[in-house]
Amino acid sequence: MPARYDVDRDALEALLDDQPAYRVRQVWDGLYKRLLEPAQMTELPKSLRDRLSSELQSTLDLVTERTSDGGETVKFLWRLHDDRTIETVLMAYRDRVTVCVSSQAGCAMGCGFCATGQAGFERHLTTGEIVEQVVRSSVRAKDANRRVSNIVLMGMGEPLANYDNTWAAVERMHDDLGLSARHITVSTIGIVPGIRRLAGERLPVNLAVSLHAANDDLRDELVPINKRYPLTALSAACRDYLTAKKRRLSFEWALIDGVNDGRRDAAELAAYARPLRAHVNLIPLNPTPGWPTRGTPAAGVRAFRDRLTELGINVTVRRTRGSDIDAACGQLRETHVTLTN
Ligand code: SF4
Repeated sequence: MPARYDVDRDALEALLDDQPAYRVRQVWDGLYKRLLEPAQMTELPKSLRDRLSSELQSTLDLVTERTSDGGETVKFLWRLHDDRTIETVLMAYRDRVTVCVSSQAGCAMGCGFCATGQAGFERHLTTGEIVEQVVRSSVRAKDANRRVSNIVLMGMGEPLANYDNTWAAVERMHDDLGLSARHITVSTIGIVPGIRRLAGERLPVNLAVSLHAANDDLRDELVPINKRYPLTALSAACRDYLTAKKRRLSFEWALIDGVNDGRRDAAELAAYARPLRAHVNLIPLNPTPGWPTRGTPAAGVRAFRDRLTELGINVTVRRTRGSDIDAACGQLRETHVTLTN
């Protein structure tokens, strides 16, 4: 049975070929504009609602929903049809509402300081599984009289390693859910061919690169994919993306005590970021079981930020969102998911 948001418009037409043509628009609008379950589409005959409820099933079964930050952050844990679990985080700010979306169950990139990476790869998410995270979060936001405005593909997984499904989901978010491309950010650990493909797409989304080190020796250690796509190749792909898309580039930098938080690290980062006019987001790293390091203490975070500012770099220290939701799990998985725009 097709999953609800894996059905594209042509497939929906085929599914409704025994119905008047306007039913396709009604159902499509119900799913994407009004964010309804088939059973809630009361303009449809009851028999059709029942049929759609069984033929267009939801893919996300809510396991837990946990709120923090005075209700401003909601972390969802979903179970998929094959019992895999993924997370989505909804974050309300004064001026925007952001959803942080997962693109894979697990991740194959093997970054040693990341709980998702340590757990390994399970499978790619389908387009519908990615889109439905946004829809379900949007319903939750709507209940609080807010509207989702920003999407960051920065949850579990490496979006550009699941390129086709991720990009189809981005197009659905833009074309059907009505989100602006300038409010959608694709995050990557630095998959160079994926960045180059993105540069050829029609939608100019923002690009966020999880950098964490700006010399190859250290980055090889922290982010193993750097051995395949080293920093020179990565900066060339970023530059070409900026030229093609004229969008914002940001570098994410998880600050690890004594590893990548020194003056030399700041100088290397500044030298790397400056020609690309990249904005740097500093992420205070939570300790991770299985990785014998700890995050840079607050004073060190401030010093690193100040050094970058002196070196002419635009820098933000990400505010920890959801840090009281599940202090024992997560780590960069937690950080990756919750410390977003
Ligand atoms: S940091 Fe990101 S890319 Fe690296 S293992 Fe974790 S989820 Fe994957």
